[in-house]
Amino acid sequence: MANYNPSSLKAEEFINDEEIQETLAYAAANKDNDALIDAILEKARPKKTKTGYTCAGLNHREASVLLACENPEKIEEMYKIAQEIKLAFYGNRIVIFAPLYLSNYCINGCVYCPYHAKNKTIARKKLTQEEIRAEVLALQDMGHKRLAIETGEDPANCPIEYVLESIKTIYGVHHKNGDIRRVNVNIAATTVENYRKLKDAGIGTYILFQETYHKQSYEALHPTGPKHDYAYHTEAMDRAMEGGIDDVGLGVLFGLERYKYEFAGLLMHAEHLEAVHGVGPHTISVPRLKRADDIDPDSFDNGIDDDTFAKIVACIRLAVPYTGMIVSTRESEKVRTRLLSLGISQASGASRTSVGGYTENERPHDSEQFDVSDQRTLDEVVRWLMENNHIPSFCTACYRKGRTGDRFMSLCKSGQILNCCHPNALMTLSEYLEDYASPETKKLGYEVIQRELAKIPNERVHSIAEQNIADIRNSNRRDFNF
Ligand code: SAM
Repeated sequence: MANYNPSSLKAEEFINDEEIQETLAYAAANKDNDALIDAILEKARPKKTKTGYTCAGLNHREASVLLACENPEKIEEMYKIAQEIKLAFYGNRIVIFAPLYLSNYCINGCVYCPYHAKNKTIARKKLTQEEIRAEVLALQDMGHKRLAIETGEDPANCPIEYVLESIKTIYGVHHKNGDIRRVNVNIAATTVENYRKLKDAGIGTYILFQETYHKQSYEALHPTGPKHDYAYHTEAMDRAMEGGIDDVGLGVLFGLERYKYEFAGLLMHAEHLEAVHGVGPHTISVPRLKRADDIDPDSFDNGIDDDTFAKIVACIRLAVPYTGMIVSTRESEKVRTRLLSLGISQASGASRTSVGGYTENERPHDSEQFDVSDQRTLDEVVRWLMENNHIPSFCTACYRKGRTGDRFMSLCKSGQILNCCHPNALMTLSEYLEDYASPETKKLGYEVIQRELAKIPNERVHSIAEQNIADIRNSNRRDFNF
């Protein structure tokens, strides 16, 4: 493993191409090695402890063997374990969020993204603070509490000061019982100083997709602009952590490169963060390339089918059991339904991927970043989750109580989720049902809440949660979270 050093701060040493090539060869050579596969599956399985569960996770080599395996029985077993892990550490909650596009000005040349600088057909927009307020009102009126803000990269049109001012504006909007309680940020790689400013502005997770871990492909896919610099982009999470942000979100854009390469790179990145900062990624996103203004996904060679996609999600779940996993509305209801049981813990709902999209009526919008497959309303998404045995959660308590980074991870590992996250999810769901739900969703919601309250093991927590929900129903609002 020449030059492979997860603790190194150099991109090409912690995402070491030679190690990835060796991993892929090892995985291919062992894809039918049943004894090894069974041992890896056994290692991945959650084990019961006195207080909850523990899970070893898998390193990138072990997980790559599972990903290479094509035996349907073993794949079924992976799916089963993925679901067990999800239930052990996250329960059946799905945290809901929406993206908010602030600006699509961009000086980069990303060949898969319609915001690339050479695209002269797409409308360029940047929201004013007044327009941001209007978008946030629309999002609050749907019931959203958690946003991910998105921008193109353009230091002149969209400097960090604009992003900081926008975050302040978003947190400052309060309409009826609505407020945005957590703003996650997906902006281009930046400096330690700027990450510190984002931290001070009270952001939740800093999200940055690697797009591809393959250096040569990365450079070809980002031919111009600051994003061309592979090392600067790949080392961004280390700078974010140095700037004090301890929740970071990784992701690759599936479809750009060979998925087995990306999978190994993604897990090596997670291993690197754990080795250097003592805490792995807070989330991993699994976006797939979509059709967009001047982008045809069929012109890229590495598209993956739904079965492969499901296997990737399950294998990520097995490898990094304590990391949240996010699926967006790029995926259809059908695909999302399938992925939910394989370890997804966060889903977006009623998303618009255009600048100003929540206050424009008809789609498609002229500044849209990509096609959204799941176009249902938030009420429909909430009801669908409950119909599929999940609890939609609008909870942001960890962030507001300072349970970020390794403090969140230890909550997750200590098995206290059922006494903490579970009641918080039910209370925030109750707020949603009272304030925004249709009568049908509300009826189902309270049936779900009754059933799920019974699962809270600690009697005191159970009775407080029950009382709080009664208070929410009687319009007696306080800061309820555990
Ligand atoms: N500009 C920021 C950066 O440089 O990282 C990120 C914000 S961008 C609005 C969010 C993400 O959308 C990108 O990281 C990319 O992975 C994804 N994206 C771009 N074009 C896409 C497409 N055609 N289909 C699906 N996702 C796409």
